[in-house]
Amino acid sequence: MPAGLWRELWIMLGIAALSLLFGEITGRPFLLASVGFGFYIALTLRHLVQLHRWLVVKRDDVPDAGGLWGEVFERIHALARENERREDRLQEMLERFQSASTATPDAMVILTPRHEIEWANAAAERLLGVTMPRDTGQRALNLWREPAFAEYLERGNYNEALETASPAQPAKTLSVRIIPFGSDQKLVIARDITHLANLEQMRSNFVANISHELRTPLTVLTGFLETLKGMEQPGGDALRKHLGTMHEQAVRMSRLVEDLLTLSKLETTPPTRHEETVDVPAMLGGLREMGELLSGERRQHILLEADNDLRLTGNEDELRSAFSNLVNNAVRYTPAGGTIRLGWKLENGCPVFTVSDSGEGIAPQHLPHLTERFYRVDTARSRDSGGTGLGLSIVKHILLRHDARLAIDSTLGQGSSFRCIFPVARAVRSAAERHT
Ligand code: ADP
Repeated sequence: MPAGLWRELWIMLGIAALSLLFGEITGRPFLLASVGFGFYIALTLRHLVQLHRWLVVKRDDVPDAGGLWGEVFERIHALARENERREDRLQEMLERFQSASTATPDAMVILTPRHEIEWANAAAERLLGVTMPRDTGQRALNLWREPAFAEYLERGNYNEALETASPAQPAKTLSVRIIPFGSDQKLVIARDITHLANLEQMRSNFVANISHELRTPLTVLTGFLETLKGMEQPGGDALRKHLGTMHEQAVRMSRLVEDLLTLSKLETTPPTRHEETVDVPAMLGGLREMGELLSGERRQHILLEADNDLRLTGNEDELRSAFSNLVNNAVRYTPAGGTIRLGWKLENGCPVFTVSDSGEGIAPQHLPHLTERFYRVDTARSRDSGGTGLGLSIVKHILLRHDARLAIDSTLGQGSSFRCIFPVARAVRSAAERHT
């Protein structure tokens, strides 16, 4: 029990004892007890008034009151000082955070669960056009009207950054990332990557230009070599063999140039807005024939199982290019007599094109890298079979342009399966041409 409380109890006991004593002498114990306790209550009220005044005025000096009241005053004073120290520390941290966020070149914006702007740093004004405090409470999508950003914000999956034009300076390219935190709040970080985007554009233009420039001379070379091969050669078999090799290499170079051109076209042009209903079953029939032609002597069994009513909204040329790359790979990486299955059907409402083969298979560590440019599990094998190392990269780009994804399953020695999974909304039932 605090010492002050003892003191208060002694005072009350003293008042009671004195009232009883003098009450006995004067014959009025109740009157004297009332006077004694009235005095005690008046004293307590005085301390209360003192406490109230002290709390309101917030003076530094502690009121002079002994006993329990003195202890209460001291305790409140200590708590108030501790709070002040904590506030100072918080203020200091806030100032440090604010100067760090002002110094950072990346735009930072905090959004509420309803996507309203709660806080933004200085760079957010330059890159995102958010001015504080004017835009506090403003809905983010009222300021950033770019559809790609709206779609990204609503998507809820922020594993990958979004590349988009700056709403404040359209010539600038931003890499936008959203980090959810707290109770459904979001931190938007936008980095200026104009320099990188320009470099990427230069690289892409360079590859496109050089491929374009190489195309004509290579066609001429291949044509002449083809003709020369068929002519009677004074140098005999040796020269014919060399001409054969030169022709083979020229054809390989042409294929590489064609694939590079396809890839750079896919990278540099926006996805076609005008899409058509593609008759995939008919296309697969053609691809099966192409596969059999390519298979030639190896006589692989190519089986096709397609839902003939199922069509797809997309770009026919691009889809043919993607699907033929997969069929082509299956034929090239499956031994003679093997089986290749082409499938086209709905899986959980999604249109899926599958190519599975009974080929050599791919070890699991290679699977995540297969769609990278020039990635090959076995370079010599790929070259010998006429590969360029760009096929799956082209497939990935085309699928991305169709909001689809590529799923690869493979077991070494048993075979592989490549599945192109399209979104439900792209499925079309041929009879009524309606979305399923
Ligand atoms: P390439 O022109 O070399 O075939 P791709 O990009 O088409 O290039 O494929 C990348 C690599 O993936 C190939 O080099 C090959 O090692 C592997 N690959 C692709 N398809 C298959 C398949 N059906 N079976 C086994 N390996 C495959």
